[in-house]
Amino acid sequence: MRLRCPQCGSKGFFSSWFKVAERCPQCGIASDRVAGHFVGAVGFNTIFSFGMLLIVLLLGTWAMYPDIRVIPLLAICFATAIVMPILFWPFSQTLWMAFDLAWRPADEAELDPRHTMGS
Ligand SMILES: [Zn+2]
Repeated sequence: MRLRCPQCGSKGFFSSWFKVAERCPQCGIASDRVAGHFVGAVGFNTIFSFGMLLIVLLLGTWAMYPDIRVIPLLAICFATAIVMPILFWPFSQTLWMAFDLAWRPADEAELDPRHTMGS
């Protein structure tokens, strides 16, 4: 959640909000560990964004009940559907990679030899 490398915790894992570095500058782990690795992050982002959309829809309905104004509610939901995936994008990248590393820890071949020496 701090947008640091899920393997070593160092900064520099992102070159911009939308762009993950090819490799961590500290430990050298690739941000795209296997072909299609990013699909998991897209899945995390989709689940989070739809969850937030559901919360906004339920809170909006609850706040306006019984006189629900559909157009303003849809406008708020639409804005949530646009903004949430953008805001959550980098977090979905690091969270997915952290889950992936928990299930399938990095072997030494994936890491920079300078990082693993002495450990
Ligand atoms: Zn790292």
